[in-house]
Amino acid sequence: MLERLKRWRAARFEARHPFPAAEWHEARARLPLLAAVPDEAAERLGHRAWHFAHAKRLSRHPELDASIDFDVPARLAIAAQGCLLTLGWDEATHREAFAGLHEILIVPDAFHRRVEEMDEFGVMHEYDDERAGETSHQGPVVVAYPDLMASGALDGFNVVIHELAHKLDMANSLDADGFPPLPADMAARDWHRVFTAVWDDLQAHLARGEATPIDDYAASHPGECFAVSCEYFFAAPEALDAAYPELYALLGRYFRLDPLSWRSPPSD
Ligand SMILES: [Zn+2]
Repeated sequence: MLERLKRWRAARFEARHPFPAAEWHEARARLPLLAAVPDEAAERLGHRAWHFAHAKRLSRHPELDASIDFDVPARLAIAAQGCLLTLGWDEATHREAFAGLHEILIVPDAFHRRVEEMDEFGVMHEYDDERAGETSHQGPVVVAYPDLMASGALDGFNVVIHELAHKLDMANSLDADGFPPLPADMAARDWHRVFTAVWDDLQAHLARGEATPIDDYAASHPGECFAVSCEYFFAAPEALDAAYPELYALLGRYFRLDPLSWRSPPSD
Protein backbone atom coordinates (compact mmCIF):
# COMPACT_ATOMS: atom_id res chain seq x y z
CA MET A 1 0.00 0.00 0.00
CA LEU A 2 2.77 2.37 1.00
CA GLU A 3 4.66 1.48 -2.18
CA ARG A 4 1.60 2.29 -4.27
CA LEU A 5 1.18 5.59 -2.48
CA LYS A 6 4.83 6.46 -3.12
CA ARG A 7 4.53 5.57 -6.79
CA TRP A 8 1.38 7.64 -7.09
CA ARG A 9 3.10 10.61 -5.46
CA ALA A 10 6.10 10.27 -7.76
CA ALA A 11 3.82 10.10 -10.80
CA ARG A 12 1.87 13.13 -9.62
CA PHE A 13 5.09 15.11 -9.11
CA GLU A 14 6.32 14.28 -12.61
CA ALA A 15 2.91 15.16 -14.07
CA ARG A 16 2.97 18.58 -12.44
CA HIS A 17 6.66 19.18 -12.99
CA PRO A 18 7.74 17.41 -16.19
CA PHE A 19 11.40 16.48 -16.03
CA PRO A 20 13.43 19.08 -17.98
CA ALA A 21 15.63 16.72 -19.99
CA ALA A 22 17.28 19.45 -22.07
CA GLU A 23 18.20 21.50 -18.99
CA TRP A 24 19.58 18.40 -17.28
CA HIS A 25 21.69 17.71 -20.36
CA GLU A 26 22.92 21.31 -20.13
CA ALA A 27 23.70 20.96 -16.41
CA ARG A 28 25.82 17.89 -17.12
CA ALA A 29 27.54 19.65 -20.01
CA ARG A 30 28.52 22.51 -17.66
CA LEU A 31 30.04 20.41 -14.88
CA PRO A 32 32.67 17.73 -15.54
CA LEU A 33 31.70 16.14 -12.20
CA LEU A 34 28.17 15.48 -13.49
CA ALA A 35 29.32 14.59 -17.01
CA ALA A 36 31.47 11.83 -15.53
CA VAL A 37 28.48 10.01 -14.04
CA PRO A 38 27.53 7.08 -16.32
CA ASP A 39 24.30 7.65 -18.27
CA GLU A 40 22.12 5.18 -16.42
CA ALA A 41 23.08 6.53 -12.98
CA ALA A 42 22.88 10.07 -14.34
CA GLU A 43 19.26 9.47 -15.33
CA ARG A 44 18.43 8.60 -11.71
CA LEU A 45 20.54 11.50 -10.45
CA GLY A 46 18.73 13.97 -12.71
CA HIS A 47 15.27 12.93 -11.55
CA ARG A 48 16.34 13.04 -7.91
CA ALA A 49 17.93 16.46 -8.41
CA TRP A 50 14.73 17.73 -10.03
CA HIS A 51 12.68 16.56 -7.07
CA PHE A 52 15.28 17.88 -4.61
CA ALA A 53 15.22 21.29 -6.33
CA HIS A 54 11.49 21.51 -5.60
CA ALA A 55 11.58 20.05 -2.11
CA LYS A 56 14.41 22.25 -0.79
CA ARG A 57 14.58 26.01 -1.01
CA LEU A 58 17.49 27.56 -2.88
CA SER A 59 17.66 31.09 -1.58
CA ARG A 60 19.94 34.05 -2.13
CA HIS A 61 21.40 36.41 0.39
CA PRO A 62 20.04 39.97 -0.15
CA GLU A 63 23.59 41.19 -0.80
CA LEU A 64 24.20 38.71 -3.59
CA ASP A 65 24.69 40.59 -6.88
CA ALA A 66 21.24 40.95 -8.47
CA SER A 67 22.65 40.15 -11.91
CA ILE A 68 23.57 36.63 -10.80
CA ASP A 69 20.93 34.35 -12.17
CA PHE A 70 20.29 30.73 -11.27
CA ASP A 71 18.64 29.27 -14.34
CA VAL A 72 17.12 25.80 -14.39
CA PRO A 73 20.38 24.04 -15.38
CA ALA A 74 22.21 25.91 -12.58
CA ARG A 75 19.61 24.91 -10.00
CA LEU A 76 19.65 21.34 -11.24
CA ALA A 77 23.45 21.32 -11.08
CA ILE A 78 23.47 22.49 -7.44
CA ALA A 79 20.85 19.90 -6.47
CA ALA A 80 22.63 17.14 -8.39
CA GLN A 81 25.96 17.78 -6.67
CA GLY A 82 24.19 17.27 -3.35
CA CYS A 83 22.27 14.23 -4.60
CA LEU A 84 25.54 12.60 -5.72
CA LEU A 85 26.14 11.80 -2.04
CA THR A 86 23.07 9.57 -1.85
CA LEU A 87 23.04 8.31 -5.44
CA GLY A 88 23.95 4.79 -4.37
CA TRP A 89 21.19 4.63 -1.77
CA ASP A 90 17.57 3.67 -2.36
CA GLU A 91 14.92 6.33 -2.64
CA ALA A 92 13.69 6.12 0.96
CA THR A 93 17.20 6.29 2.42
CA HIS A 94 18.03 9.22 0.14
CA ARG A 95 14.93 11.15 1.27
CA GLU A 96 15.57 10.34 4.92
CA ALA A 97 19.23 11.41 4.69
CA PHE A 98 18.23 14.91 3.62
CA ALA A 99 15.05 15.18 5.68
CA GLY A 100 16.76 17.71 7.96
CA LEU A 101 17.80 19.91 5.05
CA HIS A 102 15.29 22.58 4.09
CA GLU A 103 17.26 25.40 2.54
CA ILE A 104 20.50 26.16 0.74
CA LEU A 105 21.43 29.82 1.15
CA ILE A 106 23.87 31.37 -1.33
CA VAL A 107 25.89 34.23 0.16
CA PRO A 108 28.08 36.73 -1.76
CA ASP A 109 31.47 35.70 -0.46
CA ALA A 110 33.27 33.61 2.11
CA PHE A 111 31.76 35.07 5.22
CA HIS A 112 33.31 35.82 8.54
CA ARG A 113 31.99 34.67 11.79
CA ARG A 114 33.08 35.96 15.14
CA VAL A 115 34.22 33.02 17.23
CA GLU A 116 34.73 33.09 20.95
CA GLU A 117 36.67 30.26 22.49
CA MET A 118 37.82 29.67 26.04
CA ASP A 119 41.29 28.15 26.26
CA GLU A 120 42.52 25.68 28.86
CA PHE A 121 43.64 28.57 31.10
CA GLY A 122 40.19 30.11 31.09
CA VAL A 123 41.22 32.97 28.79
CA MET A 124 38.67 33.98 26.18
CA HIS A 125 39.95 34.34 22.62
CA GLU A 126 38.02 36.03 19.84
CA TYR A 127 38.86 35.68 16.19
CA ASP A 128 37.35 35.80 12.73
CA ASP A 129 36.70 32.41 11.26
CA GLU A 130 36.49 32.48 7.48
CA ARG A 131 34.98 29.52 5.75
CA ALA A 132 33.50 28.69 2.41
CA GLY A 133 30.27 27.33 3.74
CA GLU A 134 28.65 26.43 6.95
CA THR A 135 26.16 23.85 8.02
CA SER A 136 24.42 23.69 11.35
CA HIS A 137 22.03 21.17 12.80
CA GLN A 138 19.13 23.52 12.35
CA GLY A 139 18.99 26.23 9.76
CA PRO A 140 20.12 26.48 6.17
CA VAL A 141 23.22 25.13 4.53
CA VAL A 142 25.19 28.27 3.72
CA VAL A 143 27.36 28.31 0.62
CA ALA A 144 29.54 31.15 -0.70
CA TYR A 145 28.90 32.02 -4.33
CA PRO A 146 32.59 32.02 -5.45
CA ASP A 147 33.04 28.55 -3.96
CA LEU A 148 29.88 27.37 -5.67
CA MET A 149 31.33 28.60 -8.97
CA ALA A 150 34.61 26.82 -8.20
CA SER A 151 32.75 23.53 -7.61
CA GLY A 152 31.86 20.95 -10.24
CA ALA A 153 35.30 20.15 -11.63
CA LEU A 154 37.20 16.94 -10.99
CA ASP A 155 39.77 18.52 -8.72
CA GLY A 156 38.68 17.40 -5.25
CA PHE A 157 36.99 20.69 -4.30
CA ASN A 158 33.21 20.84 -3.96
CA VAL A 159 31.45 23.07 -1.46
CA VAL A 160 28.01 21.47 -2.05
CA ILE A 161 29.29 17.96 -1.38
CA HIS A 162 31.25 19.26 1.61
CA GLU A 163 28.34 21.01 3.31
CA LEU A 164 25.82 18.26 2.57
CA ALA A 165 28.28 15.68 3.89
CA HIS A 166 28.10 17.60 7.18
CA LYS A 167 24.31 17.19 7.02
CA LEU A 168 24.68 13.41 6.65
CA ASP A 169 27.15 13.47 9.54
CA MET A 170 24.70 15.37 11.77
CA ALA A 171 21.88 12.86 11.32
CA ASN A 172 22.88 11.09 14.55
CA SER A 173 24.33 13.93 16.61
CA LEU A 174 24.01 17.67 17.01
CA ASP A 175 27.43 18.37 15.58
CA ALA A 176 29.46 17.09 12.67
CA ASP A 177 31.83 14.66 14.38
CA GLY A 178 32.89 12.59 11.38
CA PHE A 179 30.68 9.71 12.47
CA PRO A 180 27.47 9.58 10.40
CA PRO A 181 24.85 6.86 10.87
CA LEU A 182 26.24 3.75 9.18
CA PRO A 183 24.32 1.15 7.18
CA ALA A 184 23.60 -2.07 9.07
CA ASP A 185 26.32 -3.99 7.23
CA MET A 186 29.13 -1.64 8.27
CA ALA A 187 30.92 -1.86 11.61
CA ALA A 188 31.58 1.33 13.57
CA ARG A 189 35.00 0.00 14.57
CA ASP A 190 36.08 -0.25 10.90
CA TRP A 191 34.98 3.33 10.32
CA HIS A 192 36.83 4.47 13.42
CA ARG A 193 40.01 2.52 12.59
CA VAL A 194 40.27 3.79 9.00
CA PHE A 195 39.50 7.43 9.81
CA THR A 196 41.84 7.40 12.81
CA ALA A 197 44.69 6.13 10.61
CA VAL A 198 44.02 8.90 8.06
CA TRP A 199 43.76 11.51 10.79
CA ASP A 200 47.05 10.38 12.35
CA ASP A 201 48.77 10.42 8.95
CA LEU A 202 47.52 13.96 8.24
CA GLN A 203 48.75 15.16 11.64
CA ALA A 204 52.13 13.47 11.07
CA HIS A 205 52.52 15.26 7.72
CA LEU A 206 51.74 18.60 9.36
CA ALA A 207 54.14 17.90 12.24
CA ARG A 208 56.91 17.24 9.71
CA GLY A 209 56.04 20.42 7.84
CA GLU A 210 55.05 18.42 4.77
CA ALA A 211 52.13 18.91 2.38
CA THR A 212 49.20 16.65 3.22
CA PRO A 213 48.01 14.10 0.59
CA ILE A 214 44.50 15.64 0.68
CA ASP A 215 43.50 19.22 1.54
CA ASP A 216 44.89 20.01 4.99
CA TYR A 217 41.50 21.39 6.06
CA ALA A 218 40.76 17.68 6.65
CA ALA A 219 43.26 17.82 9.52
CA SER A 220 41.39 20.58 11.35
CA HIS A 221 38.56 18.49 12.82
CA PRO A 222 37.24 14.91 12.46
CA GLY A 223 34.04 16.32 10.93
CA GLU A 224 36.09 18.18 8.31
CA CYS A 225 38.11 15.04 7.67
CA PHE A 226 34.89 13.26 6.69
CA ALA A 227 33.55 16.17 4.60
CA VAL A 228 36.84 16.72 2.73
CA SER A 229 37.14 12.96 2.14
CA CYS A 230 33.68 13.02 0.55
CA GLU A 231 34.77 15.85 -1.78
CA TYR A 232 37.74 13.75 -2.93
CA PHE A 233 35.70 10.54 -3.15
CA PHE A 234 33.43 12.09 -5.78
CA ALA A 235 35.57 14.85 -7.32
CA ALA A 236 39.07 13.30 -7.20
CA PRO A 237 38.65 9.58 -6.51
CA GLU A 238 42.03 8.74 -8.08
CA ALA A 239 43.81 11.03 -5.64
CA LEU A 240 41.92 9.67 -2.63
CA ASP A 241 42.50 6.07 -3.67
CA ALA A 242 46.20 6.74 -4.26
CA ALA A 243 46.65 8.48 -0.89
CA TYR A 244 44.34 6.40 1.29
CA PRO A 245 43.07 3.24 -0.46
CA GLU A 246 41.41 1.92 2.70
CA LEU A 247 39.48 5.16 3.07
CA TYR A 248 38.39 5.05 -0.57
CA ALA A 249 37.18 1.47 -0.09
CA LEU A 250 35.38 2.38 3.16
CA LEU A 251 33.55 5.29 1.53
CA GLY A 252 32.74 3.04 -1.42
CA ARG A 253 30.96 0.68 0.95
CA TYR A 254 29.25 3.56 2.74
CA PHE A 255 28.05 5.33 -0.41
CA ARG A 256 27.59 2.07 -2.38
CA LEU A 257 29.34 3.69 -5.32
CA ASP A 258 32.65 3.40 -7.14
CA PRO A 259 33.42 6.76 -8.79
CA LEU A 260 36.84 5.42 -9.87
CA SER A 261 34.96 3.29 -12.42
CA TRP A 262 33.24 6.40 -13.86
CA ARG A 263 36.30 8.04 -15.24
CA SER A 264 35.81 7.53 -18.94
CA PRO A 265 34.65 10.91 -20.26
CA PRO A 266 31.58 10.93 -22.52
CA SER A 267 32.52 10.64 -26.17
CA ASP A 268 30.46 13.38 -27.84
ZN1 LIG B 1 33.23 21.86 6.83
